[in-house]
Amino acid sequence: MIRKLIDKLINGRKGPRAAVRRKPKQYRASELGVRIDNVSQGALRTCETLQKAGHQAWIVGGGVRDLLLDLKPKDFDVATDATPDEVRALFRRSRIIGRRFQIVHVMHGREQIEVSTFRAIQEDAETDEHGRVLRDNVWGTQAEDAARRDFTINALYYDPVADLVLDYHDGVRDLKARTLRMIGDPTTRFREDPVRMLRVARFVAKLGFKVEPATKKPIAGLAPLVRNVPSARLFDEMLKLLTSGHAMACLHELRREGLHHGMLPMLDVILEQPDGESFVSIALARTDERVRSDRTISPGFLFATLLWEPVAARWRERVARGEPAIPALSDAIDSVIDEQGNRLAITRRFLADMREIWMMQPRFERRTGRSPWGLVEHLRFRAGYDFLLLRGQAGEVPDELCRWWTDFQGADAGQREALIAQAQAARAGAGAGAGGARKRRRRSGRKGRGEGGEGRAEIGEARDQSDPGQAA
Ligand code: ATP
Ligand code: MG
Repeated sequence: MIRKLIDKLINGRKGPRAAVRRKPKQYRASELGVRIDNVSQGALRTCETLQKAGHQAWIVGGGVRDLLLDLKPKDFDVATDATPDEVRALFRRSRIIGRRFQIVHVMHGREQIEVSTFRAIQEDAETDEHGRVLRDNVWGTQAEDAARRDFTINALYYDPVADLVLDYHDGVRDLKARTLRMIGDPTTRFREDPVRMLRVARFVAKLGFKVEPATKKPIAGLAPLVRNVPSARLFDEMLKLLTSGHAMACLHELRREGLHHGMLPMLDVILEQPDGESFVSIALARTDERVRSDRTISPGFLFATLLWEPVAARWRERVARGEPAIPALSDAIDSVIDEQGNRLAITRRFLADMREIWMMQPRFERRTGRSPWGLVEHLRFRAGYDFLLLRGQAGEVPDELCRWWTDFQGADAGQREALIAQAQAARAGAGAGAGGARKRRRRSGRKGRGEGGEGRAEIGEARDQSDPGQAA
């Protein structure tokens, strides 16, 4: 409280309520170019049901923004004056989530609509010593709800039934001018929630908008505050950045603003190489492609690609010093993960996926005996193989190896034996030519088909994940 009063006196900072505007501009949505057929059935039905029960219901956030830009929204959020319990009672397939501020997930077929109750502006919200709001859980009016959103273009309300758009903060003007402008005093708003700085980077990269100067100005100075954000939230935001369809552009934008230090300490290393050539840029381009064609992305796979370059570099160093390949890789992984610290807070589940994908890589180079049979049955084979193909594209492993695995997995038992024999012969030939093959013996003495158990035992990782094939 006292700090806020002092702020107000010294800096002339206005209280958060100053941003509340009671009278929105009104537009006919169709006249703004919104096409109702771009609104999903789920969003439309959610609004209709709420309105029939006597509540307000508006599509908000990225959904409206994208509709106005004539882009197809990737999902829809709805804001209402109904309480979560009232919403829950209206939709059979819905559930309340969150403890502090509850929202309701409403399911329509496979589509999920997030319904949130208008939130209030709290004049005396509890904050940490940097101004970050710690609790934010009071329901309010639509005008308040609008004022507590981040950017003007994200604070538009669209009623698809009435064909109406409400604009409290001149978001329509800013959309037309392709400008990202913070609602209220940018410094205060970034302090309240430093994640908003990361959101700037994401929207700049994704929408190609320019940042209005007053919004941009404080970012350089406030960037270190990203470190105070709980790591689980940072992880969510990082995932949004990486799956925005513009991943590389987002990372460059983060680095340009110095925002990555608190988030992905290794970003400098990752972005060192020229664009378009490095492993990571190939991997991110592929991720963007998948996002744009509506295919699923596995976070474990994504982070495995992001951190592979440092892992591989350290692995090579250790092998060069004479360490055996597998333990060297395992140690390299540990050291890179340690270095990220708990900043990135990759959840244990995803860490286990990443480690599995990485630890499979040396095993792709063993094409003798039973080894390939075990590997191809591995629960995460598909992800490991996709990862190998990326390494192939980046010139890290020979194309021939990738082709061999493509053939092997598609082959029947007889063809597989033939492929192994062929690889063995090639290796013997190469070994003789080079004056002695590299020694690489399997330490497992196990016999028989293995059925995947062989492969899994070798990785020897405790795992707490159970969704195979996500990266397929
Ligand atoms: P996308 O299309 O990438 O999902 P979005 O704008 O919908 O973009 P969300 O994270 O889905 O982003 O958030 C939905 C809306 O909630 C935003 O448009 C904004 O109005 C509000 N919002 C989200 N995060 C914040 C924040 N940190 N501070 C203030 N408002 C926020
Ligand atoms: Mg959204």
